[in-house]
Amino acid sequence: MTTDPPFPDCPTALERRPLPVPKGVERVLLHSCCAPCSGEVMAAICASGLGLMVYFYNPNIHPRDEYEIRKRENMRFADKLGVPFVDGDYDPDNWFARVKGLEQEPERGARCTLCFDMRLERAALFAHDMGFALFTSSLGVSRWKNMDQVNDCGHRAAARYPDLQYWDYNWRKDGGADRRIELAKREGFYQQEYCGCVFSLRDANQRRRESGRATIESGGAALMDKAEN
Ligand code: SF4
Repeated sequence: MTTDPPFPDCPTALERRPLPVPKGVERVLLHSCCAPCSGEVMAAICASGLGLMVYFYNPNIHPRDEYEIRKRENMRFADKLGVPFVDGDYDPDNWFARVKGLEQEPERGARCTLCFDMRLERAALFAHDMGFALFTSSLGVSRWKNMDQVNDCGHRAAARYPDLQYWDYNWRKDGGADRRIELAKREGFYQQEYCGCVFSLRDANQRRRESGRATIESGGAALMDKAEN
């Protein structure tokens, strides 16, 4: 066990076991969905001594302002760690085309499989082009996600390239879930209130209406204010 801080100015009080880094691998590409989910993954990889590059490709996120906020939060933390951050494309039209007909699917359903497939396929392509032998993702970090569903998509994407593997490490285990919360609080990460797509926003607001809670603002200005203050 080690209590070494993952980076100098952000000590962690929670113990961290050495990561079981696949043999012979020196660097990894991380597909990131947002700062709250990827922060601890980034810190764990940095602490392991593995080289890290972050790839942000999430055209599912709606609206654009919300997308920019999530991306900016992630960039801010990558800068703090000195980790290269690659800003993937924002092509929501392609995302909507991919999930067409699945608008009424619940979260964790068939639409989410296609959404994960799209993002991880692009990450796998980028990893391959950049000569990475290993890539992973923060998509399964949240307890609201089905990790097996994400891992299946990751392995399917990696299988397109003979020299690429998907690292299906469970980032929640060995205290990862607790450190994720600790780090998000300490860094004051913007906390999104729905998964990302317009359909998840619709469903989150429906649940809120049913329980008499205020609906989520998605107009941009309010979210920007919240992220900046
Ligand atoms: S609910 Fe989340 S994972 Fe599912 S399709 Fe929407 S953005 Fe993608």
